[in-house]
Amino acid sequence: MKAHDGMYIDGAWRPAAGRDTIAVVNPVDEQVIAQVPAGTAEDVDAAVRAARAALPGWAATAPAERAARIAALRDVLVARKDEIAATVTAELGAPLPFSQLVHAGVPVLVAGSYAELAASYAFEEKVGNSTVYAEPVGVVGAITPWNYPLHQIVAKVAPALAAGCTVVLKPAEDTPLTAQLFAEAVDEAGVPAGVFNLVTGLGPVAGQALAEHDGVDLVSFTGSTAVGRRIGATAGAAVKRVALELGGKSANVILPSADLAKAVGVGVANVMGNSGQTCSAWTRMLVHTSQYDEAVALAAEAAAKYDDRIGPLVSAKQHARVRGYIEKGVAEGARLVAGGAEAPREQGYFVSPTVFADVTPEMTIAQEEIFGPVVSLIRYEDEDDALRIANGTVYGLAGAVWAGDDAEAVAFARRMDTGQVDINGGRFNPLAPFGGYKQSGVGRELGSHGLAEYLQTKSLQF
Ligand code: NAP
Ligand code: MG
Repeated sequence: MKAHDGMYIDGAWRPAAGRDTIAVVNPVDEQVIAQVPAGTAEDVDAAVRAARAALPGWAATAPAERAARIAALRDVLVARKDEIAATVTAELGAPLPFSQLVHAGVPVLVAGSYAELAASYAFEEKVGNSTVYAEPVGVVGAITPWNYPLHQIVAKVAPALAAGCTVVLKPAEDTPLTAQLFAEAVDEAGVPAGVFNLVTGLGPVAGQALAEHDGVDLVSFTGSTAVGRRIGATAGAAVKRVALELGGKSANVILPSADLAKAVGVGVANVMGNSGQTCSAWTRMLVHTSQYDEAVALAAEAAAKYDDRIGPLVSAKQHARVRGYIEKGVAEGARLVAGGAEAPREQGYFVSPTVFADVTPEMTIAQEEIFGPVVSLIRYEDEDDALRIANGTVYGLAGAVWAGDDAEAVAFARRMDTGQVDINGGRFNPLAPFGGYKQSGVGRELGSHGLAEYLQTKSLQF
């Protein structure tokens, strides 16, 4: 695969400070497909300086012109969608149709939404005898994971640019080629030099250097709670803004009045998409005791349909981790009704679509984020019991509620400690705020709430 051997800094591809590289592996066949430079603190420093130098000019650029550049970026993402999908498939392993629809498609919607918001947002507001200006926070350090490699970049960079911020991005080491394509798209869209900069590298080296850099005003991180906690602490010590999109362990609550077959079918599909590597996946399915056996049979049947449709996990590390969780579930007494820890193929990081029954709320597989194609069916006795189980983890990122009518589902959803809930299979909305309650994070992405994360206010009194 095509790869740049440098960093995109100050509007050009420049040689890395060091010589170390990262091998990019195709998870389907475990072959090395490219090498990219492993950035160091020196590269990060050069990128942050470029971003800081570009900040006054970009912050002073009229919102309409910032909107025009973001619209141009969206157009490049549209024009290059096949190349983007092929690249995500090569380095993440997602089946091509899923890459085309989701990995290449969703970023177009999100970039488009910020082209519109940049043009229409009220960056100035009258409050009594004051005028309140929404001004850019400054230089953004963006650190992104591999599971939705382009979406997570666009969900940070597009609102940052709309706000008038400049950016240094450190993408996941497993998916740097998608990030390089994005940098090419930014360049093609005519975004001024230094406004967006890319440093590929390892988390504990380049990522940490970026999170700790004095020249960064806001760290926006998506990834594991373990790393997010450290980044939050570092930012707190420096009195620096921080946004954290962390893990989840979301509940799919099926109330007795729901269409059981539909709720189970959509619930299993939700977990199997992207091989279960979705932070907001509904990995716990909560079913009333009177419908439990029927739901288990439906879930096992639904999972089997994904046997030869599912892609691999991203890496050998994730492969070992997810299979370890499946073994742990068996050891703790859960009952396997589909899939299991055995690798279904000799080559590639594949895990079979897996369904556990007889899962109790305190089991490890019901508490920790597995990040693989594994769904756990938990029984509840009544609505209060369901609510206790749904809210009974440290996470609160997403969830679903199914009922005979929307009002009944909404009443339950309002009692859930979680950032977003799909009612009776509600569709993804790229304008709705996305983020977590509890340890699932701090801050919101997408739409106007996502834009507000990159703004700070200044009040002038008259
Ligand atoms: P991770 O280590 O938290 O990775 C997220 C990003 O942070 C990557 O760019 C990573 O770089 C970087 N990073 C790692 N250590 C860092 C440090 N000390 N300072 C600054 N940046 C650092 O997540 P992971 O290892 O890829 O996945 C582990 C688990 O995290 C998964 O099993 C899953 O449970 C969870 N996860 C959640 C999400 C989500 O969307 N909420 C996404 C991905 C993973 P490297 O790529 O070099 O590690
Ligand atoms: Mg990592």
